[in-house]
Amino acid sequence: MTRKERFQYVIDYFEQHAPNAETELLYDNPYQLLVAVILSAQCTDKRVNMTTPAIFAQYPDVEALSKATFDDLFPLIRSISYPNNKTKHLIGMANMVMDDFNGEIPSSVPELIKLPGVGRKTANVITSVIYQQPNMAVDTHVFRVSARLGLTVNAKTPLQTEQQLLKYIPEEKVHIAHHWLILHGRYICLARNPKCGECGLRPICKYYKQLVKA
Ligand code: SF4
Repeated sequence: MTRKERFQYVIDYFEQHAPNAETELLYDNPYQLLVAVILSAQCTDKRVNMTTPAIFAQYPDVEALSKATFDDLFPLIRSISYPNNKTKHLIGMANMVMDDFNGEIPSSVPELIKLPGVGRKTANVITSVIYQQPNMAVDTHVFRVSARLGLTVNAKTPLQTEQQLLKYIPEEKVHIAHHWLILHGRYICLARNPKCGECGLRPICKYYKQLVKA
């Protein structure tokens, strides 16, 4: 099977089984998604979704958040991992959006990564989910699932994974492919005990082939 055929198999599978895959973070606008994605680093989407309604009630837009003090905001995100840093990042992000971007959440990766708490992965999520740009955010699930399926070969870093995936996935499918791989990693292709018995990608999976041989 060529690499191209492998990608086609995976894309066909997910198009059939997960045609409407999307982020599990709850949000109504770019501001809310940016806050949620910053909070989601090293934290589950479920936990973030339990936390954001109170934040958005108190700080309904980026201007309101820019006026928050550390002591006001911290209690609202105390239950999330790294609350100290995330509190500082959210306030810093809101201030920079107000000062440097006229209060509008930027729509390009180079601009987004200037914001505190926003790395390449977060910027790729925002630009693909909100603006449908063909950017692939690589988190631990995307990294692992891509390698196991043989979509990536010897990728050592998230950036290498991103580049290999972008080479083979058609532009218009990149943003949904991100969700396919994340959700597959979250619910089926688990890090420690992948549920291969339930997985429809078994016939082409390199990791499974090794397991069977062993
Ligand atoms: S067969 Fe197993 S290792 Fe391969 S993608 Fe499916 S769950 Fe993951």
